[in-house]
Amino acid sequence: MYDVYAVREDFPVLKEVVYLDSTATTQTPVPAVEAMVEYFYKYAGNHGRGAHRLARETTNRYEDARETVARFLNSEPSKTIFTKNTTEGINLIANSYPWEAGDHIVTTQIEHHSNLLPWLRLQKVGVNVTIVGPDSKGRIDPSVIESAITDRTKLVAVTHVSNALGSVQDVDRIIKLAHRNGAQILIDGAQSAGHMPVDLKSPGCDFFATAGHKGLLGPQGTGVLYVKEPEMLESASVGGGTVSDVRGLSYLLEPSPACFEAGTPNIPGIIGLGRAVEYVEKIGVEAIEKHEKKLAQDTAKRLSELEHVEVYGPKDRAGVVPFNVRGLHSHDVALILDQSRKICVRSGHHCAIPSIRFLGVDSTVRASFALYNTEEEVDILVRAVDELRALVS
Ligand code: PLP
Repeated sequence: MYDVYAVREDFPVLKEVVYLDSTATTQTPVPAVEAMVEYFYKYAGNHGRGAHRLARETTNRYEDARETVARFLNSEPSKTIFTKNTTEGINLIANSYPWEAGDHIVTTQIEHHSNLLPWLRLQKVGVNVTIVGPDSKGRIDPSVIESAITDRTKLVAVTHVSNALGSVQDVDRIIKLAHRNGAQILIDGAQSAGHMPVDLKSPGCDFFATAGHKGLLGPQGTGVLYVKEPEMLESASVGGGTVSDVRGLSYLLEPSPACFEAGTPNIPGIIGLGRAVEYVEKIGVEAIEKHEKKLAQDTAKRLSELEHVEVYGPKDRAGVVPFNVRGLHSHDVALILDQSRKICVRSGHHCAIPSIRFLGVDSTVRASFALYNTEEEVDILVRAVDELRALVS
């Protein structure tokens, strides 16, 4: 039996606010915060750079975190690269891939800018980009992606869960179709890892980028990038920590993941992330998914019963509910909800302007859910939005 009230004890800020903005960033549980505090108080050193006890302890704990994350995503430590966020992981692929002029990328209209701009920028070096649209509910039909693939397509880049619409893509099928047509595939898992089961070996995408600070419950400034065949990339960022030898004008890079983690990383953050992922593992991602989906679906259903509210996205959604209150701007709605009931929701275009254009509006309010939200909070939100009726009639 999923005990949300026990979970909430590990997130003290939830006693102060109704936090419905976990798509932007989640709260971090006490055990993960304590792991970071322990680093600073007991053994802070640098990673991979010293023989003394603090450096050794730091390196061991950092690499333990890598093993934990790799196990959780069914990856391998050597293919698990720590980044500072999803965006950095996607840019790492865009900047390290051996592109040639005339190569082709297929992506979609429902991407976060982080999984769109890095590909659009490659047009400057002669890479062609095709953007395919969603169906009427905001989902990507895998066959539409297949139709866009040409014999020059090197990469398909698609989001697992749309942060603006809440739609969940059939990534298993998209991966199979991409591979069947000779293309590699990158999944933007910013809104899926930690919110739903992710198995990087089945059916096996080529690249998977996610955040540490969202469903994995780690701190801000952490992210994870999976690369199936790291040897095919040439790290775009080199320097300290990436190299095994330097001689004259040449150098020899370390194997993955070291060659992709140039400079001192966010060591406390990654150690906190490792502890946070253990926390998610212990609760069980299937239980989390079920809990979040139920909250989101109840919210969407109840909000859509209010005649002054329009709800967007498919019925079968992840924990994301975008909506608008007719006659009010999304920022005003978000401010009023905060001031009247301490409800934290996001407003605006959610760094996904093409998705918002698809909805035919210029912004939305977005309520989003994590493992610690409750039906009482859904109730508070729905009642507060209902009260806005007085402002619009
Ligand atoms: N991709 C999606 C689907 C997102 O929702 C987000 C952030 O909300 C990002 C990418 C960017 O994530 P980050 O802030 O970790 O770089």
